[in-house]
Amino acid sequence: MSSTGHPKNVIVIGSGLGGLSAAISLAQEGYAVSIHEKNPKIGGKLNVLKAQGYSFDLGPSILTLPHIFERLFERSGKTMSDYIPIRPLRPHWRNFFEDGKVVDLYPEPDLMAAEARKVGEDPANVERFLKYSADLYDLVNAGYFEQGLDSAGEFRSFYGLGKFLKFDLFRTMHGGVARHLKTRHMRDIFDYFIKYVGSSAHHSPAFMNCMPTIQYRYDLWYVDGGLYHIALGLKRLMDELGITVHLDSEVTEVRKQGGRVTGLVANGEFHPADIIVSNMEVIPAYEKLLAEDDAFMKTLEKYEPSCSGLVLELGLDCKYPQLAHHNFFYSDHQKEHFHTVFRKRELPPDPTIYLVAASRTDPTVAPEGCDCLKILPHIPHIDDEHPLTRQDYMALKERVLDKLERMGLKDLRKHVVFEHCWTPLDIREQYYSNKGSIYGVVSDRFKNLAFKAPKQSVKYPNLFFVGGSVNPGGGMPMVVLCGQNVARKIVAWDR
Ligand SMILES: Cc1cc2nc3c(=O)[nH]c(=O)nc-3n(C[C@H](O)[C@H](O)[C@H](O)COP(=O)(O)OP(=O)(O)OC[C@H]3O[C@@H](n4cnc5c(N)ncnc54)[C@H](O)[C@@H]3O)c2cc1C
Repeated sequence: MSSTGHPKNVIVIGSGLGGLSAAISLAQEGYAVSIHEKNPKIGGKLNVLKAQGYSFDLGPSILTLPHIFERLFERSGKTMSDYIPIRPLRPHWRNFFEDGKVVDLYPEPDLMAAEARKVGEDPANVERFLKYSADLYDLVNAGYFEQGLDSAGEFRSFYGLGKFLKFDLFRTMHGGVARHLKTRHMRDIFDYFIKYVGSSAHHSPAFMNCMPTIQYRYDLWYVDGGLYHIALGLKRLMDELGITVHLDSEVTEVRKQGGRVTGLVANGEFHPADIIVSNMEVIPAYEKLLAEDDAFMKTLEKYEPSCSGLVLELGLDCKYPQLAHHNFFYSDHQKEHFHTVFRKRELPPDPTIYLVAASRTDPTVAPEGCDCLKILPHIPHIDDEHPLTRQDYMALKERVLDKLERMGLKDLRKHVVFEHCWTPLDIREQYYSNKGSIYGVVSDRFKNLAFKAPKQSVKYPNLFFVGGSVNPGGGMPMVVLCGQNVARKIVAWDR
């Protein structure tokens, strides 16, 4: 409550999942919440494209950790399944290799053991690796995820030195994988769990091996009709909570006075606020909305963006029955692939490709007898000093199509009846993400030890951040958790 007896007024900049989660969590705490979103619809990167009878998830396509989303509904006495219909998928992923081997991922130990044997991996190695992953998950989840830890001090006091050593700090993620798994195929697969945060298994810390547990313990989910139904379900909940959403309302300035923020300017109009939560990423927000000086911006350099992506949607006039719902086509040189994207910052000659064929399990997303494909190789974020052209990106697209045709999608090009493609330049333009990043801040052992920026501004105490650029980072469940944690932080600071 403000001194006038009215609820305090919070404005959220941006309606990505982090912004929506923060808005809902703060409204549930009694704040008067409104959102300004520059685009004509909510959801941010959780986005959908419908054309010619096809429906594509333009952003996320894998839902994990649904219990984190469930909490948003439970706190209003509701049940998520009444708003968002979800179901688990089998197999989780299908993995295709250039040598013709195909391996599926299942959470059931007997099915997974059979898949491991196909490439000569002893199933006991997979079991040991998954136990190692589960231990890391429990460790990371207890503090970093659930307590919303932000600073080295908070980390020290929660974990203490003893537990800190259990983070396997002296290895890379790949080092942790290679210690347990012996075959190149299994190593490539478990290294690629780093895709969830758009980083490199050879440059991120070993505790990122917590990620397979997210799938193996809590399953992998699909939202019937496509993932945008998450945004639609959250919108219904927001309407019930009385949250105001201003669409087509770009925030161009955050005003400040006496070390605090006082409000913001959207579409040329000033809106006063007691508290501001920015779902615009930390670096673009400080630079563009708060006009901070170079010295301050330099302190944020360690929060380097994650990778970007070439996001290609294809509507086909046929089906490729060999595809599962989620598929990965591996680079024959995965270590080089990571090095090219994350160190040399070049477009990879032989990328690992993620391909979603949601039409495999959801008949509503494509005409009968047809597949709709979303294809996503991870590629470097934008380098404004040495920018790539659309032509460069289209040359990569041709390499991607060559690889898919070579690896079994025969005559793919001939079956395309609808095509849509976004490059990193389009992604930046759409979401104002830092250098076209698709997961926020990169997880890198040497740059930031996988820490992202803190949720409370170090300059203005009534300014907070939410989303992939702050702890715990990118991916849908993490930004939703971040929204809940930032609300808790605001309440603790405010009362
Ligand atoms: C192609 C792709 C595939 C992905 N796959 C997966 C997946 O399978 N599973 C998964 O969990 N995650 C996936 N992700 C990552 C996931 O989508 C993101 O981590 C998450 O959705 C980001 O949420 P966010 O809260 O950080 O905000 P964002 O989605 O980045 O939204 C920020 C919002 O703020 C708005 N905004 C910015 N500046 C302003 C301003 N000045 N004024 C007004 N509005 C503004 C933007 O328009 C946007 O709506 C994927 C992402 C992409 C792009």
